[in-house]
Amino acid sequence: MTAEWEAGRLDSDLEGAAFDTLAVRGGQRRSPEGEHGEPLFFTSSYVFRSAADAAARFSGEVPGNVYSRYTNPTVRAFEERIALLEGAEQAVATSSGMAAILATVMSLCSAGDHVLVSRSVFGATVTLFEKYFKRFGVQVDYVPLIDLDAWAQAFRPNTRLLFVESPSNPLAELVDIAALADLAHARGALLAVDNCFCTPVLQKPLNLGADIVIHSATKYIDGQGRCLGGVVAGRAEQMKEVVGFLRTAGPTLSPFNAWVFLKGLETLRLRMLAHCASAQALAEWLEQQPGVERIYYAGLPSHPQHELAKRQQSGFGAVLSFEVKGGKDGAWRFIDATRMISITANLGDAKTTITHPGTTTHGRLSPEDRAAAGISDSLVRVAVGLEDLADLQADLARGLAAL
Ligand SMILES: *Cc1c(COP(=O)(O)O)cnc(C)c1O
Repeated sequence: MTAEWEAGRLDSDLEGAAFDTLAVRGGQRRSPEGEHGEPLFFTSSYVFRSAADAAARFSGEVPGNVYSRYTNPTVRAFEERIALLEGAEQAVATSSGMAAILATVMSLCSAGDHVLVSRSVFGATVTLFEKYFKRFGVQVDYVPLIDLDAWAQAFRPNTRLLFVESPSNPLAELVDIAALADLAHARGALLAVDNCFCTPVLQKPLNLGADIVIHSATKYIDGQGRCLGGVVAGRAEQMKEVVGFLRTAGPTLSPFNAWVFLKGLETLRLRMLAHCASAQALAEWLEQQPGVERIYYAGLPSHPQHELAKRQQSGFGAVLSFEVKGGKDGAWRFIDATRMISITANLGDAKTTITHPGTTTHGRLSPEDRAAAGISDSLVRVAVGLEDLADLQADLARGLAAL
């Protein structure tokens, strides 16, 4: 690219650019109008210069946009920026994080294939595998995330895909991604990592050996709780299949949402650092409080996987969970005594949120399954936002005072 660079340019030369530069400028191509901000191509279809041009574009002989279920320049800019940040050959955007998981499995697995999923993945992910993929003949088994021996023993000859979230929600458990990738590759399987909680700022699963990285862009990539979206990234060989599924089935990303996510990516690293710093401070403070019986945060030396987290991630994330005195009543009293923090299950927002996993995100599980997932009645989850740290601490102190 550098060699062809001309005076009078509109685009930036990003050859060799680092993360922060790519987060701000990656993927943008300016039109002859010279717009400085990313253009929003809010259109479902495109016009052609002639009937022959239309035919050539439909056949793929001439590259170009045909219909926004196939391609949209704003969505493409978002995809290219994510690919640069995750170190992927290609990224493909989807209408939600769940659509990203759907597209991955639909494009890479067939009836008769076996998939290994880590326990304690996002609730809707379990439903997608249990209720839907199983109905189409995909075999699914669940493995405790942190237990590499259990992973090694769970393989079958037809195991095609491993799907994990690391760190997990809400208990912040981790798996050694490089070791799991080695296990998968030795058995001819692919490893997909849902990187929603870390974002490429804190963890790059592809660099650790994973084959596919998945995001709910709804969370930190947007960062302000506005839009639903998702993305899948990996090698071109696999992404070709994902693109094929999405173009046909249709859960593609809205150009408006892609535009919002492009703006979100510009501040992603600064926001993640601020989220992490506040989460660390609150975790250290909460751990000292008599009302808190146990805290789950990988940034604390007391976390059993603190060393792995230090090695594998460049920060510890901003979701922390803790058990309070008094069981479910205590947890509810704690939550209800806060006055600023939002009572909602969402996360990755500038606004701090608080939730009781046992009766919300994990409320549909049987008590036995909940216990197996380590979700106790006294567990409270806080996704730390960007408000003033002292204000957050004061609000959580109200919770503690109500125990
Ligand atoms: C929210 C979430 C999803 C689902 O994403 P949507 O954008 O809500 O569809 C998947 N995985 C994780 C870890 C999430 O937090």
